[in-house]
Amino acid sequence: MTVLSHADTPIGLLQSVFGFVGFLANQEKVCDAAIEGRDLLLVMPTGAGKSLCYQLPAIARGGTALVISPLISLMEDQAAKLAALGLRVARIHSGLDRGAARQACVEYLEGALQFLFVAPERLRVPGFPEMLAKRKLALIAIDEAHCISQWGHDFRPDYRMLGQYLPGLRNSPDPPPVIALTATATPTVQADILAQLGMANSLKFIHGFRRKNLAIEVVEVAVPARASAICHLLASSARRPAIVYATSRKQSESLAAELSLIVRAAAYHAGLDAETRTRVQKAFQAGELEVVVATIAFGMGIDKADIRTVIHAGLPATLEGYYQEIGRAGRDGALSRTFLMHSYADQRTHNFFLNRDYPPVEHLNKVFAALGEDPRPAAELWSESKLDEEEFDKALEKLEIHGGARVDFGGAATKGAAGWKKTYTIQAQYRAEQFERVLRFTRSSTCRMSALVRHFGDVNDANQPCGICDICDPAGAVLRQFRRATPTERRIVQAIVDRLRPVSYMATGTLQRSLELVDGMSRGDFDGLLDAIVRAGLIEIEEAEFEKNGEILRFRKVLITEIGLEVRPATPLPLLIGDGIADEFEAGSKALPRQKKATTSARIASQKPGGMETNPEPADPASEVLVALLREWRTAEAKRLGVPAFVVLHDRTLQAVARARPANGAQLLEIDGIGPAKAERFGVAILKLCAVSSS
Ligand code: ADP
Ligand code: MG
Ligand code: ZN
Repeated sequence: MTVLSHADTPIGLLQSVFGFVGFLANQEKVCDAAIEGRDLLLVMPTGAGKSLCYQLPAIARGGTALVISPLISLMEDQAAKLAALGLRVARIHSGLDRGAARQACVEYLEGALQFLFVAPERLRVPGFPEMLAKRKLALIAIDEAHCISQWGHDFRPDYRMLGQYLPGLRNSPDPPPVIALTATATPTVQADILAQLGMANSLKFIHGFRRKNLAIEVVEVAVPARASAICHLLASSARRPAIVYATSRKQSESLAAELSLIVRAAAYHAGLDAETRTRVQKAFQAGELEVVVATIAFGMGIDKADIRTVIHAGLPATLEGYYQEIGRAGRDGALSRTFLMHSYADQRTHNFFLNRDYPPVEHLNKVFAALGEDPRPAAELWSESKLDEEEFDKALEKLEIHGGARVDFGGAATKGAAGWKKTYTIQAQYRAEQFERVLRFTRSSTCRMSALVRHFGDVNDANQPCGICDICDPAGAVLRQFRRATPTERRIVQAIVDRLRPVSYMATGTLQRSLELVDGMSRGDFDGLLDAIVRAGLIEIEEAEFEKNGEILRFRKVLITEIGLEVRPATPLPLLIGDGIADEFEAGSKALPRQKKATTSARIASQKPGGMETNPEPADPASEVLVALLREWRTAEAKRLGVPAFVVLHDRTLQAVARARPANGAQLLEIDGIGPAKAERFGVAILKLCAVSSS
């Protein structure tokens, strides 16, 4: 038996080679498995210290570790860090001359290297994999492994080839382990990585996605009300420094301008020149700016521990992106708040971007058809394609990413492989699905943090409620407003648990129809009540589907929980019902100066098709009648529900309805301030009034 000296143990190497005092969370067990020679997939958030999990085992195992990395900058950065620790490192990528590559190979064959970094496309160079195979590797690390998956946003066809070359590099009775690392892989992507790399017996380590000090709120806020709500939130110095994520450059500019009236704020987006961007980033880092209103281009280089608030002024495209962005808050461990604002309007915006970023296959087909064996200048291809310039650029870019075209530095393109269509279609579909997941996240009534942890596939950790999000702690929510349930609502809850007790589950619709007490209650109200009962822990709601005549029909089913089974008429029920945003954040007539209010409504009007730009508020007597009718109805409705009138409809929404005079549900939803919940709840009544007053 050999006795390891302290210096050769993992902790010894950590201290003597890397100069760290102790392991970060989960590093030790991952290192142990890798040292043992197990294949593994490691999914931990950025900054969790994944690199060490292949670097330390490489040293412990002895020999050369092959590290595949998709970006030259990443390679250079890691190689420099290892060299600074006195380790023997070489790298091979297209940014280096041939001499350097040859030298690296010589050193490798001499056994003089501990780490060899290569770009994936290098493996396609004839003779290179064979050269590597001449020696046995200590291990093979694949950094940013999500690039291998066509589901991933950074899909790289060259990464996909890796699976072909691995067997040749592992041809030994005791093959070197493969260690695949990534910060962003949903269960779908994880499965794809393992399949592509042929890692059937791999261990999976998925850790560290739970952030205990982030209180997440998700709130429906109409687009025109967002700026004022954000200003109110950030007016308190305890909520700064802050990052606000905007969905467009224009929104980033306008929000920054409004915020500048109360705090030191600036915009940051890809349309600004590099100098301005660096200046903003530095000023924020140094504390000279307290708020940055950014598009997704901001944050990568930010290393600021005390960010107290992250606000999303619109829906993000993916939960992965959303998680990364809120993750920038509270690095110091102190409680930080994140707010996600959304409404039906965000879906339209998103569909617009999706169509722009993932153009129809026909566009790609047109460009692909024009390509040949000989390089053709892009300008020539463009004029032939009959696409507009932006469409053409996008189509060519997508073809290149998916291997359907090769574009040289001069901008001339040659035909690539026909397989692009499959991966492109799959990726476009996946993108749409990712947004569906964002929508589901906003609608869900389960703990926000748990939902995110589950999204990243850490099922073990997903069942623990966080205790501080708007679902776990409605009373503690800052922006989202809840009200106590009325006595009638509490009676309905009692009836619901009584109805569910003897059955295993019921569809929401069936349940509603089976209760006399809820006669006349709208679907939206009933759903809101169910959500409140879920929050109180008495029931659970699952999305389910069944097939009827070849069609997939979705429904929500309600199940009673253990706690629900215990409820008796005398049980006190602390029920809080979701109710839009809190009063103090409302841009009501008191809070905003008159003039500003007028411009806001002018803006709403000018967005409507049919062009009211020239005369935003026509003195139309018929619309005055409709305003009066709507007001009357609103007063009665508010009284019936026992809520303030603005909860039913804001004044400006009411005005907008009167101007637009919607004839159907779709037109009603076009109006800012009317989300699906409001439409469902009040749509029938509003449309009836509009119809009456126009006849
Ligand atoms: P990831 O790849 O997961 O994003 P990195 O491997 O780049 O993270 O590590 C993030 C930072 O944490 C680096 O600066 C690294 O030096 C540091 N780090 C890694 N392990 C430890 C440790 N055990 N103790 C202290 N710092 C560590
Ligand atoms: Mg990394
Ligand atoms: Zn929670």
